[in-house]
Amino acid sequence: MDKIKNCVFCDLKLNKGEVIFETENFFAGIGIGLAAPGHVMLIPKKHFACCADILKDLRPEFEDLKSLIFEKIKDAFGTPFLVEYGVFGQSVSHAHLHFIPKIRKATEFYPAYEIKDIFREMQIPDGIPVRPALWKTAAAMKRQNGGYVFLQNGDYAVLFERFEKELSYRHFFNEKMGVKDVPARWQDTTAEQEKIDVVKKQITCQLLKF
Ligand SMILES: [Zn+2]
Repeated sequence: MDKIKNCVFCDLKLNKGEVIFETENFFAGIGIGLAAPGHVMLIPKKHFACCADILKDLRPEFEDLKSLIFEKIKDAFGTPFLVEYGVFGQSVSHAHLHFIPKIRKATEFYPAYEIKDIFREMQIPDGIPVRPALWKTAAAMKRQNGGYVFLQNGDYAVLFERFEKELSYRHFFNEKMGVKDVPARWQDTTAEQEKIDVVKKQITCQLLKF
């Protein structure tokens, strides 16, 4: 299926987000309730439930763009952390891979953190089976268990077989880091938080050039 009615990534008019870069089949977008300046998503234009469902002929383009966005964020901000909620824990049922940069230097406006800080917090749950990240493994996990969670730190990428709240990057920013302008759910972004989002978006657009 190409487009789904009322899907905020199929119909961008429904979305308050912004497209900063696009190709024939994908776009890089800035959402709402951003975790940090430089937080972007890679999204297919066609409707797929998760990245593991992206059709084989679109996969090389997806991988190229994943690398391109990774490098751009690395240069402009710091090596990003990547996360995809492959159906588990997903709040928009249209594939989207998050890139959240490392923040090197604390500012009045935002704390500094390392990607390993996010990872340390997000690997707390015991007993969740972890597998090496390959898209064919993700697709198999989705068939067998109904979903997966994908996390990447540099070259280290893993798949989780279950979603727990601790695997949410929002849990890290909102609860562990105390970043009050990162809502626990993007749908709950307040008017105050939206103002901070505007600042984060401006920084993102200024520094990330495609
Ligand atoms: Zn969609």
